[in-house]
Amino acid sequence: MCGIVGFTGRQQAAPILLNGLSKLEYRGYDSAGITTIENNHLFTKKAKGRLQNLKDLLKDENILGHVGIGHTRWATHGEANNINAHPHKNGKVTLVHNGIIENYIEIKKDLKKEGYKFTSETDTEVAAALLDELYKKNNDMVKSLHEASKIIRGSYAFVVLIDGDDSIYASRCASPMIAAIGDDGFYVASDVPAILAYTNTVSYTHLTLPTT
Ligand code: GLU
Repeated sequence: MCGIVGFTGRQQAAPILLNGLSKLEYRGYDSAGITTIENNHLFTKKAKGRLQNLKDLLKDENILGHVGIGHTRWATHGEANNINAHPHKNGKVTLVHNGIIENYIEIKKDLKKEGYKFTSETDTEVAAALLDELYKKNNDMVKSLHEASKIIRGSYAFVVLIDGDDSIYASRCASPMIAAIGDDGFYVASDVPAILAYTNTVSYTHLTLPTT
């Protein structure tokens, strides 16, 4: 298992992501990472090992952004290192993932034929590239997530960012994820403790969130 937190709203995202991830540490993990967006600029940092390692890396950074996603990884495909840690970006899509994509080798082969290149060993980066390919065609991430669900076999909770968009998109199949609304924004997380400091208005079904 791993931990996912996503936020879009009026607050700075990074403290919410790091605080939320710390509440999910009980689930176990081997690396951690976050991506935030400010003025169309993506800021990503990842660290192998304890969440504290990531916090140490970030302590002198001024991380701006009202939109962001965070992840603690439990490696299933590829060793625990900074490259394989999430979030993963391919094309315009950046995503975190909990679960296993069983048919990732076939999907990767098809995507390579379309010109996609991969930097990590993960099944997750394949999902990022697949969503990028579908998004290029659809220009609609909700539609693309629906189409991806017909292609992907396995279990997943995804939280997705797109370059140039300040929404977060989430989708799940056989992996846990909740969505929540607070006074200051919208949250997604693997489990309720991650967002309890901000809201207790939780939905277990609605996983595509509007912008604020
Ligand atoms: N299968 C993915 C990976 O190995 C996600 C693992 C997880 O749930 O943390 O990166």
